Amino acid sequence: MEESNKFIRLCTFESFKEIWSHYGFGTDQRDLIQREFTRIKDVTYLDHAGTTLFPESLIKRFYEDITRNLYGNPHSHNPSSQMTHDTVESVRYRILEHLNTSPEEYSVIFTAGCTAALKLVADSFPWVSASAEGSGSLFCYLTDNHTSVVGIHGVTGPQGVGTVPVLPQEVEARAQNNPLSGSDGDECLVPHLFCYPAQSNFSGRKYPLSYVRGIQSQCLYPACEHRGRWFVLLDAACFVGCSPLDLKQHPADFVPISFYKMFGFPTGLGALLVRNEVAGLLRKSYFGGGTVSAYLVDEDYFVPKPHIASRFEDGTISFLDIISLHHGFDALLKFTGGMVNIQLHTFGLARYTYMILSCLRHSNGRPVAQIYCDNEFENAAEQGAVINFNLLDGYGRVVGYSQVDKMASLFNIHLRTGCFCNTGACQAYLNISNQQVKSNLEAGHVCGDNIDLIEGRPTGSIRISFGYISSFEDCQRFLKFIANNFVAKPLRLAQERLARLQSASAAEGCSSSEELTTAPTPRPARYSLDISPAPSPETLTQEAFLKAEKSSGKTCTLTNIFIYPIKSCAAFEVTEWPLGPQGLLYDHMWMVVNENGVCLSQKREPKLCLIHPHICLASNTLRLQASGMDPISLPLETSEESPGPRTCRSKICGDRVQTVDCGERVSLWLSEFLEKPCSLIRQSPDFTRHMKIGQEDGVSPVALSLVNEAQFLLINRASVALLMDYIINR
Ligand SMILES: *Cc1c(COP(=O)(O)O)cnc(C)c1O
Repeated sequence: MEESNKFIRLCTFESFKEIWSHYGFGTDQRDLIQREFTRIKDVTYLDHAGTTLFPESLIKRFYEDITRNLYGNPHSHNPSSQMTHDTVESVRYRILEHLNTSPEEYSVIFTAGCTAALKLVADSFPWVSASAEGSGSLFCYLTDNHTSVVGIHGVTGPQGVGTVPVLPQEVEARAQNNPLSGSDGDECLVPHLFCYPAQSNFSGRKYPLSYVRGIQSQCLYPACEHRGRWFVLLDAACFVGCSPLDLKQHPADFVPISFYKMFGFPTGLGALLVRNEVAGLLRKSYFGGGTVSAYLVDEDYFVPKPHIASRFEDGTISFLDIISLHHGFDALLKFTGGMVNIQLHTFGLARYTYMILSCLRHSNGRPVAQIYCDNEFENAAEQGAVINFNLLDGYGRVVGYSQVDKMASLFNIHLRTGCFCNTGACQAYLNISNQQVKSNLEAGHVCGDNIDLIEGRPTGSIRISFGYISSFEDCQRFLKFIANNFVAKPLRLAQERLARLQSASAAEGCSSSEELTTAPTPRPARYSLDISPAPSPETLTQEAFLKAEKSSGKTCTLTNIFIYPIKSCAAFEVTEWPLGPQGLLYDHMWMVVNENGVCLSQKREPKLCLIHPHICLASNTLRLQASGMDPISLPLETSEESPGPRTCRSKICGDRVQTVDCGERVSLWLSEFLEKPCSLIRQSPDFTRHMKIGQEDGVSPVALSLVNEAQFLLINRASVALLMDYIINR
């Protein structure tokens, strides 16, 4: 079979089933998506490790709950606060139950998220500083940790606490069978902390949960080399999204989590689970409302509350959000039957995608993707539903992740790029030295920007991650997107490798007794790019010719002038046009915003391009036309007399802009056409915004309208023709 046909065959649900037998949760996955996730229609959402998505009924149930019941502040004692208190307690119980433990073993401290939980440990762990008497505590962590874990170092460093970064391979390689005997007194009481992720947020690699007991019993490195009491912090934030965690079997001392990674809602809520046995060791310094049994305002006297949760939850907890967790657990159980099923479903999707992606080859046989992983996605105990990779071109050069990200956005594929708040893993997999991190910073690259390549070397990578709502179609669309856009044709496959991976699957994956759910017929995918054709020479008007001399002496001819009065709407072509202080007069003077004042672009709202604005300078009006709508006109200038135009602040490319609302009439018109609440806003006449890039010292700043970066956007015919060529020949 020809290899590209073989690829097409691999991208079918039948092939998926040959590789993995668990799919969905006993109902048609597409029905579930249509019922509960209408907002991801046409979207391939592959960033569940960033945040997973909540089902719509979760919010409905939550809304019904808090409108039916009266929940007061849990610190009061009236019936409504008692109601809150009791409900919150039942949520704590449910969290413990979910992690297979009980209030006898663990306490739940609610925090603002996993990061806040980690900071709480940093601030309250009983660190002992190194001194003449002894070497003090150690803060040890796997280098493949989230920034929020490594950041504990910012607290321990200044206290004189030793730091031990541990490479993933060292934990077992340097283990010792006969742990140090605790002979010399005080040293045995010095507390040390070892932190590791149950699942890497970079690569999705799962680290053995047996490390918990291995470190506590001082068999594994680094605990085997240092006397003292060893505590383990298991960062479960990424892991609990798709996997069952059993704290009875693996009794980590501290377990931080964030709830949006499990349920998609609420955000800004997490928890620190603390083993009751160690709770008493934690130090409390700051005391906020609700955390003290007694204190005096004019004396250094305060007595923290005895119970750990009340002692560490400063101020009023986010009680309504906490109550919503009930509905999160309910929804998860109702739709999936539990974490074991979620793990089977999501791991299968990741494994299937990995298998094909890792076998894709350019026409010359070179690989298309470099995947950053430590296993072959054989086993859900070693690998989560995350794939991290970079794409390579036919010469083996890395394709910048920003380029892939932008291309993916055009296809409505949502993935994550960069370093994922995990510099350690990023450096290790991408082979970036400490020196390079520093010189990259000097070259202007900071975490989270879009400088993806420096001297041809990647500064980050691409991550896709699955959740329980992910479907086979998501994998299919993603793989076709890669094959159509980033593979030199004719496409090839690494046949031997594929055969090996497939036979490994047949051997283990399909031996399960679990029932297969009804096979969905994959929807036909849409892969067309809508770019309006280049203007043909015939449409040029003679009057449009303006000449500009280039420093090289070459002459450029301006053939067409397009004005975009409303950002992201259709162009308005003119043959001559006055210039204003911000470039072409009225160009990008208006924009459409949603009900929260957020700018709508064509990427967010493709229908914007069907709105045709027309400026009539003689009558001083802006007229909007769209098919099926009566045209509407409004004045070009916001009149001072109009009863107090609502001013609003929005952001464009990170800049604050001050704008005025153009009124209810046009907002109704737009809302009707776009079928969602929105309004038209105009840049305030007395607001100036300056260009950021390419500004030289001593040159007066360039004023901008609501454009992204500069007053004028010039594009030459050759580029447009090249692009058209490229699109047509794909
Ligand atoms: C997401 C994540 C965090 C940080 O969680 P926040 O919700 O941003 O506080 C920490 N560790 C891991 C492994 C994560 O995946």
